[in-house]
Amino acid sequence: PKLAEWQQEMLKDLEQATDRLSTLTEDLLDVSRLQAGQLVLQHTSTNLVSLVQRLIERFQKTTARHQLAFHPEQPILEAMIDPQRMEQVLSNLLTNAIKYSPQGGSIVVTVRKDSANHAAEIRVQDDGIGIPLHQQVRIFGRFTRADNAQAAGISGTGLGLYLCRALIEQHTGRLWFESEEGKGTTFFLHLPLVAPDSAT
Ligand code: ATP
Ligand code: MG
Repeated sequence: PKLAEWQQEMLKDLEQATDRLSTLTEDLLDVSRLQAGQLVLQHTSTNLVSLVQRLIERFQKTTARHQLAFHPEQPILEAMIDPQRMEQVLSNLLTNAIKYSPQGGSIVVTVRKDSANHAAEIRVQDDGIGIPLHQQVRIFGRFTRADNAQAAGISGTGLGLYLCRALIEQHTGRLWFESEEGKGTTFFLHLPLVAPDSAT
């Protein structure tokens, strides 16, 4: 028999609760792995453009209030990365962009090659609540959350960015942001591309 609307709602809630629980468990395990020096990357040549494209499509399905726009400057940008870990990083950045823009709005993701630095650059930009200036220096710390996010009643553990930065540093990349409270936030991710003459 077809499920009633309230039953479908309930199933959706259950599914979301299970997802949250499994993400939390995975995050806590990753923190322990990092501390034990046991978080090992599985590098493989990966097209960053299609990886980001897939994630954008997946996350667009989770929200009707936000418009996710993707602007790759080229169709293919290969990097030697751990694709699952990169997905984990971008998933947190996209989840953050969505949940810290409770009014909705546009989220713009860019992928480009920074030829001067032989790096790939990914940006995730939102028009959300922003991060208060006085808390910006500490925001990558474990269990760190900004006051305005908590005041707005948006839930979170404060582990996502800590793990993102650790994972990107393990890729010998960089992760940073620019943010203005009440205006929005842009995260920048730089990943080194293998120099053509050093490829084996
Ligand atoms: P989780 O561990 O589930 O990711 P979280 O989202 O609270 O929880 P982080 O992703 O580490 O944790 O982010 C830390 C804090 O940084 C957030 O709680 C929020 O205060 C702030 N923050 C992160 N991204 C944004 C953003 N795009 N806009 C505004 N604030 C943000
Ligand atoms: Mg987060």
